[in-house]
Amino acid sequence: MAASDLINLSGLIDDAKCFALVRQHRWPAGVRCPVCGSGSVIRDGCDDTQPCWQRYRCKACSGRFDDLTGTVLAGHHQPLRVWVLCLYFMGLNLSNRQIALELGLDTSDTQTMTEQLRRGLVAKTPAVELKGEVEIDEVYVVAGHKGQPAAVAKRGGSGGAANWQARQDAARWRRTSHPFSA
Ligand SMILES: [Zn+2]
Repeated sequence: MAASDLINLSGLIDDAKCFALVRQHRWPAGVRCPVCGSGSVIRDGCDDTQPCWQRYRCKACSGRFDDLTGTVLAGHHQPLRVWVLCLYFMGLNLSNRQIALELGLDTSDTQTMTEQLRRGLVAKTPAVELKGEVEIDEVYVVAGHKGQPAAVAKRGGSGGAANWQARQDAARWRRTSHPFSA
């Protein structure tokens, strides 16, 4: 029996705390306008369906925004707590399939979510610059070339490089970043 059959984890997570978590990461020194960067911001009500989802108005540029505006978490139908749990499971290196099972989601929906979270994270992370002696602690060996390594190397050329890049991005994300900053 899957753990998700016994415990509906997302039902135990507090929405208000999830929004507070986003605010804390996104604006550690107080709310700032995502358009002009001004800190002269006033609260401007809440989302109609979710009272924890705060709206704001910028006194400098009159722009309106909310807790999620400009983040990868904006504009989705899944509640924020589901995104937060998804991110948590990604940090535990669960597969998309495992995350989908735990959250009671469709696997393809979960894949879309994890891709968006990674994209949001990678976009915020500065490019890594390597200097001096570099050690690599994980090695991926291509299996199943059936005695034709040259053919596999040729076929896997660009795809292999792309996969490697994706793994590097994911590893960098695990080490450094979070998706809540705009
Ligand atoms: Zn502004």
